[in-house]
Amino acid sequence: MACEPALSIEHVTHAYGERIALDNVSFTVARGTCTALLGLNGAGKTTLFSLVTRLFAAGRGRISVLGFDINRDPGEALRRLGVVFQARTLDLDLSVAQNLRYHAALHGLGGYEAKARAAEVLSRMDLAGRAGEKARNLSGGQMRRVEIARALLHAPPILVLDEPTVGLDINARAAILRHLRELVAQTGLTVLWATHLLDEVELADEIVVLHKGRILATGSAQGVIAAQEAKDIAEAFTALIAEPSATSAESPP
Ligand code: ATP
Repeated sequence: MACEPALSIEHVTHAYGERIALDNVSFTVARGTCTALLGLNGAGKTTLFSLVTRLFAAGRGRISVLGFDINRDPGEALRRLGVVFQARTLDLDLSVAQNLRYHAALHGLGGYEAKARAAEVLSRMDLAGRAGEKARNLSGGQMRRVEIARALLHAPPILVLDEPTVGLDINARAAILRHLRELVAQTGLTVLWATHLLDEVELADEIVVLHKGRILATGSAQGVIAAQEAKDIAEAFTALIAEPSATSAESPP
């Protein structure tokens, strides 16, 4: 369906034992947009990514990727996702090209096609000259860009990233965000990235504010700021998490 969102999260609830990590979370990500999932440590961002990428199944609710239900049609749904996890996952003893080739094989890409795709995605990430380099010789920002390139190898229409800029310096962070914005503008990719860094989210088309397992606001940065009658996103975020509705979801009701 043409109007189907890229990603749809409907009434998703997830608990670890007694601890409710996500409490009736619903939002959509429109196709071809760059959306930031903003939340402090413990907000539930990684839990949501784990559910979207089907590392584990949601206790309640429905997640669909371009209309494919993640539980009923996992193959179709997951094929449409590129994923960059929070923890670094490159094999440091392999070259950049070898890291990509290994991953390409997992997606059934081989030979000429794998080589061509690897060259294309590395070039998109400004890493064309680094293919033969051992991963351990790259900077933190370059490693992250290799992980993004790797996630794009199978040409997914949607890229999800869990805190891709954590631990990077200001230039490396800016480079990652610029690349993501360019991918969205030039290729129509849909991006959902999790962050706790307030200064990043003004670059997003849409912001989803997640706090203690609950969605507190969605909309453009300007919209979220205006709704809180705040002067900037930091002030709006502080006001949102101070509201009585932002009660803890860490203990069951
Ligand atoms: P961070 O930025 O610190 O990773 P986050 O926004 O990704 O935070 P989650 O890691 O999803 O948040 O955690 C949400 C809540 O679920 C927190 O209260 C956390 O302590 C709890 N939690 C996460 N993983 C587990 C687990 N495996 N077992 C028990 N509780 C967990």
